[in-house]
Amino acid sequence: MHRIRQYGDPVLREATKEVTDIDGAVIALVDRMIDVMYAAPGSGLAANQIGIQKRIFVYDASDGLGPRTLINPRVVESDGEWTFEEGCLSVPGLSWEITRPNAIHLVGLDIDGNEVSIETDEYEGRIFQHEMDHLDGILLVDRLDEHQRKKAKKILARREQAANAPDPDGLRRLLGF
Ligand code: ZN
Repeated sequence: MHRIRQYGDPVLREATKEVTDIDGAVIALVDRMIDVMYAAPGSGLAANQIGIQKRIFVYDASDGLGPRTLINPRVVESDGEWTFEEGCLSVPGLSWEITRPNAIHLVGLDIDGNEVSIETDEYEGRIFQHEMDHLDGILLVDRLDEHQRKKAKKILARREQAANAPDPDGLRRLLGF
C-alpha cells in the first residue's frame, strides 16, 4: 500500500493540493511517510511518492535533528549555484550531477501547524528543492542536461523491459530523496 511510486507512475506527475487542516489523518500520513523514508532508506520523501496528492514532504538532513515535516511549503528566495550528485527514491539506483541554486529560503507549516521560515543551503537546501519538485510533478530526470538525458532514457527504457528484475542495471543503490 505504501510502496514508493516509481518513475512512469502517473501519480508522480499530477498536481498536489494544499493541506487545509492538519488533522489526525494528516498526522498519520506523515508518520507513515517517515517510516517509508527511513525504510527506503532515503533522506526525503514527498507525499505523492506514496500516492497521496498533498503538499507535504518529510526529510532528515543527517544533521542529528531527526525527521522533520513541511506542509504547504513555498520557496520565497533562492541564491547561488551548487552541483551535487542527486538520486531519487522514485528512480532508484541512478544518480546524476545536478546544478541548482545553493541557498534556499522556504516557508510553510510544521506538523503542529506553526509557521516556519527556513534559510539553508547545500545538502538541506538540495533536499528542499528536490521535494518541492516532486510536489510540482517534476522528477529528477527533467533536470538533466542533454547528454545525461540521452543516457538516462536508454537505462530507463531497458529497465522498463526488465521491470521485475531487482537491480537490472547492476548499479549500487544510492541514498536518494
Ligand atoms: Zn525524489
